[in-house]
Amino acid sequence: MRDATMNAEKMGISNRKAVFQLIRNAPDISRKRLSESTGLDPSTISRIVSSFRRQGYVKEAGVNRSESPGRSSIRLSVVKEAAVSYLISLGVEKTILALGFLDHTIEKIAEFSTPQNFNAFLRILVEKIESHYQKYPAKSRIIALSFSLPGIIDRKNRYIYNLPHLGWTGINLREAVETSLDKMKVEILTANEAQLSLMAERYQNETMAPYKNGFYLFLSQGIGGAILSEGELYMGRSFSAGEAGHMRIDKNGAVCQCGGRGCLETLAAIEPVVKDYERKGSVLTGANTIEKFRTLITRYNQNEPLAVDELSAMQEYMVIGITNIANLLNPEFLMIGGMGYDLPEEWTTILENRVKKEALTSAGNQFKILRATMDIHDSTLLGSDLLAMDYFTEKNIR
Ligand SMILES: [Zn+2]
Repeated sequence: MRDATMNAEKMGISNRKAVFQLIRNAPDISRKRLSESTGLDPSTISRIVSSFRRQGYVKEAGVNRSESPGRSSIRLSVVKEAAVSYLISLGVEKTILALGFLDHTIEKIAEFSTPQNFNAFLRILVEKIESHYQKYPAKSRIIALSFSLPGIIDRKNRYIYNLPHLGWTGINLREAVETSLDKMKVEILTANEAQLSLMAERYQNETMAPYKNGFYLFLSQGIGGAILSEGELYMGRSFSAGEAGHMRIDKNGAVCQCGGRGCLETLAAIEPVVKDYERKGSVLTGANTIEKFRTLITRYNQNEPLAVDELSAMQEYMVIGITNIANLLNPEFLMIGGMGYDLPEEWTTILENRVKKEALTSAGNQFKILRATMDIHDSTLLGSDLLAMDYFTEKNIR
């Protein structure tokens, strides 16, 4: 996304929107660069930028001396507080509430244990948001509540099909939240956590720039995924494409949350791995599965034999799962994220070499495994903010 080259007409979007997207995605861009990137003449760029400044969306942010020798240019960037959204990163065990801004900075407000019951969750969330909102000086700038959720979501209708690890099914999220919020009139937005993490990495991680086809494997209590196809998210007919955790590995295996047997996530997600280790060995320190899994990684790094056995078995199943994904999609890359961010760094190379060897030649050729650059909550929060600010752009910049 940092690649500032686009042609407004070719992309079929308005000139204003194209210019605004460039300023959002390439902070400190100059008018000259905007003109080069969009193909619009300098006077048109000046006119568009002036109107954004009058609206309070864009500001001049100092002088850039490096662009061409002997000539300085003024840097442009979006105004942080021009649009603000509440961000909700809902994990199976822990929920984080934050404030996200137009410039994609994020400020955490609160965190709490996720109740198993949806109505109990909503009560806590609404109470925390309303008490923050009462004291917040720039109320009129708040545009949305943007949710990252662990499961199958209809993002267009803001509808939860299924969050298997919480047992929440068939919930009209927009309606439920709107009826609970007394004092606020804002948009409700939501998407799957793996899809949002992929969006976040594409925005922030420059090594992603050359890739248009790939897969984001989201490792947590279960295993989710998101498919990038020709630069766009591929979600399937009913939004469940990429659910790699439910590929069947062992027909005689343990029963999965989905009702099937021997799914990948019953073998390689952090919950079964932590439970299996604790059954065979000792209790892991940590308040929840995520913390316990981090303890297990520490023990693995210290060469504790049982931890090495446990994570080596997990690695074997990851090789099988990723090889299947590589054979099925023939992607350029597979990014390991969510709690995959916490896995030992050398796993990236180990997994890549194993998959290259085991996948079909055409799938393994040039196949890259990338490691996420943001942890499980940072990536979902940034993704939720991108979702909110894309909505703002769509609605206000024409
Ligand atoms: Zn399953």
